Amino acid sequence: MDAVHISDDLTEVLFSKEQVQERLVELAAQIDADYDGRDILLVGVLNGAVMVMADLSRALVSHCEMDWMAISSYGSGTQSSGVVRILKDLNTDIAGRHVLVVEDIIDTGLTLSYLITNLLSREPASLKIMTMFRKPDALANQVEVDYVGFDIPNEFVVGYGLDYDGRYRNLTSVGTLAPHVYS
Ligand code: 5GP
Ligand code: MG
Ligand code: MG
Repeated sequence: MDAVHISDDLTEVLFSKEQVQERLVELAAQIDADYDGRDILLVGVLNGAVMVMADLSRALVSHCEMDWMAISSYGSGTQSSGVVRILKDLNTDIAGRHVLVVEDIIDTGLTLSYLITNLLSREPASLKIMTMFRKPDALANQVEVDYVGFDIPNEFVVGYGLDYDGRYRNLTSVGTLAPHVYS
């Protein structure tokens, strides 16, 4: 068998591993300053946010806990299905807690607005949103995000937790897929 390297399936690298890590460290410093010694409850949205969660949490010096939710909004393709449902709920009671949602990417903001409404009904002390990547539609839809890693063009990207049909999450850089992958 020929050797396989997942990065061979990219047409363009938008962000290298180093660029992603550098930006995360900046965001973590900002978050530490903003929370000013308060304990943070990081809520990661599975599966995409696993990499961001692992790296952001370790870049923070604040005390934090981690919990996870799984929500479906995309099928196996690249189009939003418009369907949002909870596949796995939090284990933690977030009432009175300072919650920071950790997201991989915000596209239309559909998933996030559902999540915000849902989490606010549980009466956290505060609720903020961090996303590693944000697409132009999120800006157009005026989705409020407190911390953004990078604003990116309206293209389907993979890597750093982001998948295409379950694959490429383990790519450390972020980029667009070559046409041969889709055919
Ligand atoms: P939204 O509800 O904001 O339209 O979509 C959010 C979810 O769609 C993300 O958590 C992610 O699962 C998926 N998504 C949106 N854009 C992309 C993209 O460019 N690449 C990948 N892999 N997933 C995306
Ligand atoms: Mg996500
Ligand atoms: Mg996906």
